[in-house]
Amino acid sequence: MSNGSLDWQACPRKAGKVFPWALVRTPKGGGVIEATIVSPAMVGCWTHFYDGRTYPHKIDDCPACAGNMKREWHGYFAALRESNGQKLIIEVTERVGGFIEHWQSQHRTLRGSRIRLHRAGKAAHSKIHVDFHRELVETILHVPSQELKEILCHIWKQPTLLASSIEIEPPRIAEPETGGPPIIFPGSDRAAG
Ligand SMILES: [Zn+2]
Repeated sequence: MSNGSLDWQACPRKAGKVFPWALVRTPKGGGVIEATIVSPAMVGCWTHFYDGRTYPHKIDDCPACAGNMKREWHGYFAALRESNGQKLIIEVTERVGGFIEHWQSQHRTLRGSRIRLHRAGKAAHSKIHVDFHRELVETILHVPSQELKEILCHIWKQPTLLASSIEIEPPRIAEPETGGPPIIFPGSDRAAG
C-alpha cells in the first residue's frame, strides 16, 4: 500500500446535478399524497396529452392544437411530502384546482397549508378528495409562482426566460406513497382526477 495523499472531495462529483423536484399526481388505487405547500399560489397551465405524456399548450402555433388534440387545464403547486420531506410539484385537475383556489382565496396564501389528496376509488379516474388541515405549518422553503413556472419548464423541457440555477437533469421517478405505479410524467400514463 502506498503512502500517497488521499484525494478528499467535499462533494460527490454529481452534487447539484440531481433535479430535486418530482412531478406527481394523486396515485390510483386508494393513493394518498400528504404534503405541506411551499408556494403561495397555484399556477395553472393549459396542457395536451399525447404520445403518452403531457405537453404544455402553446399560445402561438401549438402543434397539438393543429392536430386537434384536446386541451386540458392543470394546476400546479410546490410542496414537501410530509412523510419524508421529498420536494413535490403536485399536479391537479380543474375540479381539484377549484377546491385549492377556494382555500387560497380564503387564506391569502397556500404556503404553510397542509393538504391531503386522496383518490378513493380503484379506477385511474376516480374522484380525488381534498382536505386541508386546520393548522398551518412554518416552512422555510418558498417557491414563488415565477420559480414554479421555471421548474415546470424544466420538467417539460421548455426554454425559460430567466437564467436559472436549476439543473436540467431528468426528474427521478417518484414512488407513490401508497400502492399504484410510479406517478410522474413525462412518459407515464394519464391519470386525471
Ligand atoms: Zn394547444
